[in-house]
Amino acid sequence: MGAMDGTVGLIAGVANDRSFAWFIAKSIIAAGGTCLFTHLPGEKMERRCRKAITGLGIDDPWLMPMDVSDDASMDEAFDRIGADHPKLDWLVHSIAFADKDWLQEGKVTATPREVFTTAMDISAWTYMGMANRARPLMTDGGAMVAMSYYGAEKAVPGYNVMGVAKAALEATTRYLAMELGEDNIRVNTISGGPIRTMSSMAVGGFSAILDWVEQKAPLKRNITGEDVGDAAAFLLSDAASGVTGQVLHVDCGYSAIGL
Ligand code: NAD
Repeated sequence: MGAMDGTVGLIAGVANDRSFAWFIAKSIIAAGGTCLFTHLPGEKMERRCRKAITGLGIDDPWLMPMDVSDDASMDEAFDRIGADHPKLDWLVHSIAFADKDWLQEGKVTATPREVFTTAMDISAWTYMGMANRARPLMTDGGAMVAMSYYGAEKAVPGYNVMGVAKAALEATTRYLAMELGEDNIRVNTISGGPIRTMSSMAVGGFSAILDWVEQKAPLKRNITGEDVGDAAAFLLSDAASGVTGQVLHVDCGYSAIGL
């Protein structure tokens, strides 16, 4: 018996087999859950996502394009989920975007309005947008998880506007939890340690961050994708039935120390 046996949920954010979303899917599948996937529209994105999912042992995945910057695209994806599945038990929001030109040291103060609003929209508001569309499908309660980073709490050089968006994402987690609790829907976020992915390589000085965390974190290592995958599966399962509105650090303890 797996902790997620018989449950069905949506995973948004598998770009390839290094994505946090991919590791989360891996852990959920190991716990017995069934994953539906969405990817950023485009032939190349679909091909990469499909290839990564095949690597999870799923040959014929439920897979739809969904651009979270577009309401119609979100509606279409959730309408299809509702049509194809009687209910949704959980969802994973593992999506972020900010213009990489502004994710460099010394590039906070002059951040253009449009760069700021896009980062906030894609990286924070969309947790609300997905939650709102998932709520009517979670007829038997549910659980949600999004991905954040330490740069939401402290100013991390190079993380810049994304740190501001992650602070909004973490606040969004608490406000969604407050409202969705009456439907027995739990809302949490994982603050993951740094790991090399397509998105993180856009952050200026990222290799130095990895080296620093490895030296200073209590566990003296960087996290693995599995660390985050297993924590997400826990938060989405009944094992975490009393946990909502929380930001769980999965960072080898780095955020617990004063360096
Ligand atoms: P990733 O590049 O593998 O995943 C980011 C995903 O966001 C991609 O699948 C991309 O297609 C998707 N995306 C971007 N804009 C989109 C849009 N408009 N519509 C739909 N999808 C869109 O990188 P990742 O590191 O796995 O990132 C996943 C999450 O984890 C992000 O929220 C990121 O901020 C967070 N995170 C990453 C790290 C790290 O060090 N890699 C650390 C903590 C948190």
